[in-house]
Amino acid sequence: MRASLLAVTAVLLAAPAASQQQDYSKVEIKVEQVAPGVAVLFGAGGNIGVSYGPDGNVLIDDQFAPLVPKIIAAVKGIDPDPVSFLINTHWHGDHTGGNEALGSAGTVIVAQDNVRKRLAVDTVSKRYGYTAKALGKAGLPVITFTREISFHLNGDTLQVVHVPRAHTDGDSLIYWTGANVLHMGDTFFHKETYPFIDRDSGGSIDGMIAAAKRGLALVKPGGRAIPGHGPVATRAELQAYHDMLVDVRGKVAAGIRAGRSRAQVIASKPTAVYASTIASDGFIKPDNFVGGIYDDLKAVPRR
Ligand SMILES: [Zn+2]
Repeated sequence: MRASLLAVTAVLLAAPAASQQQDYSKVEIKVEQVAPGVAVLFGAGGNIGVSYGPDGNVLIDDQFAPLVPKIIAAVKGIDPDPVSFLINTHWHGDHTGGNEALGSAGTVIVAQDNVRKRLAVDTVSKRYGYTAKALGKAGLPVITFTREISFHLNGDTLQVVHVPRAHTDGDSLIYWTGANVLHMGDTFFHKETYPFIDRDSGGSIDGMIAAAKRGLALVKPGGRAIPGHGPVATRAELQAYHDMLVDVRGKVAAGIRAGRSRAQVIASKPTAVYASTIASDGFIKPDNFVGGIYDDLKAVPRR
C-alpha cells in the first residue's frame, strides 16, 4: 500500500506517532453541497470535489484505498450514476490512494503528464523519509495533458489548468466556469496547517504563489475555493492565503539578503501575524514552512 505522505511527514515533524497508523474504519465521509451540481467530500486525506448530474459523476481526488467503498457510497447518496471520470490534482497518496480501485471499476483517470510519471514509479524521499510504491496499471491516468483540458458535462464546463512547480510539478486547478467553484488541490491549504511545498516532487514557493494568483484569476467574486485540506473558502480567503504566501516569502528573502542564517530567519517568526488564522499544530508547523522557503530561495539563484 502507498505510504500516506502527509502522515509520514507528520511523523517526521514529530507529531504523535499515532497519526502514522490511521484507523480508516472510524473515518466518516461528510458531504458539503457547494453549488448546484458541485459537492465536496471530507474524510481523511485530500478534499474530494464532485461534479454530478445527468452526464455522470466526476471525482477530483480519491483519498485512501480503504475509504473507496465509503466514498462510493457518499457519491451514490448525491447521485446514483457511476463515477465516470476521476481527476487527480497531483500524485500524493492522500489524493490518489483510491485510484486502483476506481480504475479497476471502470472510472477513467485523468491527470497532468507529471502525475502519471510519478505514479508509475517508486518514489523515495530522503527529506521526508518515506517510500511511495508505484501504482498498478489500473491506478494510472489513461488520459494525460500538458497544460489544460476541459470537461463539458452536467450543464457546466470544468476547466482543468496545470500550474507548474507549485506544491509538486504536476498540480492542476479545476474550475467550474458556470458554478464559479474552484478546486485548488494542495496548492491551497486552508486554516488547518501551514502549506506543504514538496520540493522533492518539483514544488517551489514561487510556483505556490503563482498558483494562488492563477486561482484568483479564475474564480470570480462570490465564488468558492476548495482547498486540498481544510474548509471550503471564499474568494477573499483565497486572496488572504495568497497574500500570506507573498508576505512570508518576502520576509524570508529579506532575511537572506541581510545575511541571516536559516535558524535566525526561523527565529524571527515571519508567520507570527497568522497565529490566529492558521493552526500552528497542523502537519506543517510554522518553522517547517519558513525553513522550507529558506531552503528553496537559497537553492535557486534569484534577483
Ligand atoms: Zn499533496
